[in-house]
Amino acid sequence: MKTVGIFAEVRELAVGRIGLVPTMGFLHEGHLSLIEAARRENDSVVVSVFVNPLQFNEPSDLDSYPRDPDRDATLIRAAGVDVLFLPDAGTMYPTEPLTRVEVREVSDRMEGLSRPGHFSGVATVVAKLFAGIQPNAAYFGRKDAQQLSLVRRMATDLSFPVDVRGLPIVREFDGLALSSRNLTIEDHLRDSALTLSRSLFGAADLFESGERSVKALLLAAHSGFGKDPSVDVEYIDVARVSDASIVDEIREPAFIAIAARIGSVRLIDNVTLDPVTERADRGIRLNEPSVLYGDI
Ligand code: AMP
Repeated sequence: MKTVGIFAEVRELAVGRIGLVPTMGFLHEGHLSLIEAARRENDSVVVSVFVNPLQFNEPSDLDSYPRDPDRDATLIRAAGVDVLFLPDAGTMYPTEPLTRVEVREVSDRMEGLSRPGHFSGVATVVAKLFAGIQPNAAYFGRKDAQQLSLVRRMATDLSFPVDVRGLPIVREFDGLALSSRNLTIEDHLRDSALTLSRSLFGAADLFESGERSVKALLLAAHSGFGKDPSVDVEYIDVARVSDASIVDEIREPAFIAIAARIGSVRLIDNVTLDPVTERADRGIRLNEPSVLYGDI
């Protein structure tokens, strides 16, 4: 594996069909599942690790984002990656970028409302990665379902010849969706954190029993939260997979998404609901503790 810091070096090293996995580092099995898919489907795999300042609306959130480049490099090397792209902020943004990518409407709801400017930062950095690396395919997790809709729409609207692939959510053994933020959940709040996935699974069960009314599904999800004072629900919404627009009834693939604060930690989660297969995609569960908690 080669570690490089500028786009030209990535293009020189990556050959044949190129699969790109964009990340912000501090890797876990969710990221590793994207790398595995990229490995299966391409000749060269490029993983980028860049904590993108443009997508953080709170400076304290950017400062406290966990970073461990050595740990990331060890995991990425073991996963059989060809090129690790590790740019610094000065290389990615030598000057304040005056050009920003705005994906309208997709950005107007849910995460877009809660985190002003976030999606413009995401779309801009992903567009730069697509332009600079020129991958054939790029791999994203359904953990960030709205982000996946946004990246797909951006690639279509701007004619990027990139196959945008979405992979299932990887969950810890107790159902909590993997996120580097899980490390910061205090032990006594772990059970509170599990209300996100439990509420979503409750709504997913109802969907699989034939319910298509969004009102009924939202009611089921909300009722899963009870009155836990440590849980502050920011939103629960159901949106179309295609463009993240809000729906009343599920007639095409949609996702039910939650954002909540557990103590001081903000978590998001979702389940995809497919009326064609009549199945809810709850993701994949690890049957052992995540690499997040171990020594690498
Ligand atoms: P991040 O490093 O958090 O920006 O995430 C990089 C990529 O990994 C994004 O496409 C995420 O959606 C994906 N990802 C993060 N957590 C998970 C997870 N638990 N399961 C699947 N994909 C994930």
